[in-house]
Amino acid sequence: MAKEEKGFEAKIKAMTTGGCACMTGILEKKASTLKKVICKGCGKVFRTNRDTEYCYDCQKKLKNM
Ligand SMILES: [Zn+2]
Repeated sequence: MAKEEKGFEAKIKAMTTGGCACMTGILEKKASTLKKVICKGCGKVFRTNRDTEYCYDCQKKLKNM
């Protein structure tokens, strides 16, 4: 199931690369498989439907680095 969702998401992303943001917004709402993740950066528990191990704050920090 998760694999299918990821493949579907990748397809859409490839199709809409740099495209309309509303499209990806709808997709994210559809695949609202929110899971609890413990941030590897600060240890904060947060929820995300993305394949990440860092909270939004740490992601921002990583991007700025
Ligand atoms: Zn963090």
